[in-house]
Amino acid sequence: MLGKAAQPRGSVQQNETSVESPLLDLGKVSRVYRAEGGVRVRALKDVSLQVHAGEFVCITGPSGAGKSTLMNIIGCMDQADSGSYRLAGREVQGFGTGALALLRRRFFGFVFQAANLLESYTASQNVQLPGLYAGMSRSRRQRRATELLSSLDLATRAEHLPSELSGGEQQRVAVARALMNGGRVILADEPTGALDRENGEEVLKKLEHLTAQGHTVIVVSHNPEVAARARRQIALQDGRLVSDSGGGKSALPGGASREESGGQGTPSAILELVRGSWTALRANLGRGTRLHTLLPILCIGIAVCVGAMTISLSSGVYRQASEKINSFGLDAISIYPTPGRAGPDRPGRSLTHEDVAAIENQIGGVRAISPSLKRYGVGVRYGGANAEAQVNGFVDRGSQTGRGPSSYLLESGAPITQQEDDSMAQVAVIGATTRKLLFPSGIDPVGEVILIENRPFRVKGVLRYRSGLIKDAPSAELARELGDMVNNEIFVPYKTAAFLLFESETLSDMVVFMRDPDQVLGAASQIRDLLISRLGDDVFFLMSYPGEASEKAMQVRTWLWLGLGSIAIIALLAGNLVVMNAMLVSVSARKREIGIRLAVGARRRDISRQFLAEAVTVNVAGGLLGALLALTAVIGLQSLYVAASISLWMFVAPFACSAIAGALFGIAPARRAARLTPVVALASE
Ligand code: ADP
Ligand code: MG
Repeated sequence: MLGKAAQPRGSVQQNETSVESPLLDLGKVSRVYRAEGGVRVRALKDVSLQVHAGEFVCITGPSGAGKSTLMNIIGCMDQADSGSYRLAGREVQGFGTGALALLRRRFFGFVFQAANLLESYTASQNVQLPGLYAGMSRSRRQRRATELLSSLDLATRAEHLPSELSGGEQQRVAVARALMNGGRVILADEPTGALDRENGEEVLKKLEHLTAQGHTVIVVSHNPEVAARARRQIALQDGRLVSDSGGGKSALPGGASREESGGQGTPSAILELVRGSWTALRANLGRGTRLHTLLPILCIGIAVCVGAMTISLSSGVYRQASEKINSFGLDAISIYPTPGRAGPDRPGRSLTHEDVAAIENQIGGVRAISPSLKRYGVGVRYGGANAEAQVNGFVDRGSQTGRGPSSYLLESGAPITQQEDDSMAQVAVIGATTRKLLFPSGIDPVGEVILIENRPFRVKGVLRYRSGLIKDAPSAELARELGDMVNNEIFVPYKTAAFLLFESETLSDMVVFMRDPDQVLGAASQIRDLLISRLGDDVFFLMSYPGEASEKAMQVRTWLWLGLGSIAIIALLAGNLVVMNAMLVSVSARKREIGIRLAVGARRRDISRQFLAEAVTVNVAGGLLGALLALTAVIGLQSLYVAASISLWMFVAPFACSAIAGALFGIAPARRAARLTPVVALASE
């Protein structure tokens, strides 16, 4: 943009120095307003006017004569309906809004009857505003604002808010702002109208001083004193130019303005947007609109909090459920022969180590396999006591529950480890019945050595009595008998059983652990197919996996997702609707602010970006609040032993959702704000 614009500016400078070419050249300019009810008001009728650089012109005329309309057209705030307007030798009639905004930044500085400063900005920030839209760097802007303010005797007022300044001071801040980008043409519409004599005089002096420096000044005033000060008076009446005292020509070039590159899209421009949004948010919180600003932030905070809790609780509850549903976990598939049809006690093909290897190699997603080998009626001895027990060679390779097979719980001692399996250690964990049979005196079996088939095994753990497997027994007596049978068991490491004790690689059963519980169903049917192809007959084995239970756990997770998730989304929508509503309303309430920004050269997209950024900022503020709430809540729940887990996702996902929602819901207000034209926006006072 800079490159293209730089060239015609060169020719502008040449034109200016030539005495023939006026800086502003209006030819038969007319402006017709279409008021409500279709009434047409001809505010300007064939006005022709030439103004040269360095002139001090005063436009006079009764109220409604068209003075402001003329000023707006000269200042590229509005466009004529017919006629021509040459600015610095170039026809600008028919330019688009973007080009007009550029011209406003390049050529003009406005001073209005009311100072029209942004209330939440300090004097210095107000002065800097045109530089912001011209892409001036922050440090240069600040420096220039300081210079301008001190040249207008406002050095000590730079950090004050407009409400802390007198009317005259405010108006001088407005003059400084008009000069920020160079202010080659200063357009002042009744600048002293709202001031007392003394303050008015002060402002007038400054304007006079500017013409001496080469600025072109056009003042609207019906104050005869002001008119007397100007070197040229123009009178308007009913939209017509009725008198012109004649132009005194000046060859002085105007104050230079320079548009810096890096206006939009650069990191610093985005930083400016963010900074501006926070300023707006802070200002709103500080003012009477505190509740209006806080409510949507709270709403979005709750949404983000509930969203984070959804993720936290559903994954926590799911994890806890998996542990409760199956002693092996939700990721386990048990495979065992059909009782009585095959097995190590019967000849023929049964499950072997090769089947374990085949499953490990051919089924995807297998984490570990725990084989087991059982023998019934094995002779065991301790001291003088003899018994027959079930011996179970087993190693737990995959269960993440820390428990053994069939959910055994230890009464005392420790479970068998994988290392003990690898080294074929002669260690044993004995059941409650076996303990009674071998240790009738009641001594602690842990550390004692028992004989299994005449081989010594050190007892390292004792199981608790297990009743879960026999609760369906028809009578109490039978239940006790069954219980004694089931609990008459000894666990030894799998390899010790397979290679030392029984010298057999035929498995009794195995447990396959999957990496992902969601894979269990698919893997189970694949394993079934594989074993049928290897063993030839599916009657030889049965499988059990936590299919139903796991589905239930997943269902619970889904319900949590849907239930809590929809609350989160509703809260997010509600919050953003509040934001959108507040912002749509504020577009009307902030018309004046938008008008000021447009007058100092903001493009439409600057305005829409500002509103979008503000919507996103509200969401980010809400998001931070929500994340904090969620973290507190989850830590609280965890201390109450409620299943809830903390992950990065629980914050990132809801936070991103709210930021996106903010951007989406900010579009409507942003568009509405950007549709305003400078004249309409400023007229709404
Ligand atoms: P002045 O500034 O000299 O008082 P204006 O330029 O503001 O006069 O207005 C000139 C005429 O145009 C007036 O009759 C005014 O009512 C009319 N006018 C100004 N702005 C509008 C507008 N936006 N819509 C309709 N009529 C307007
Ligand atoms: Mg007016």
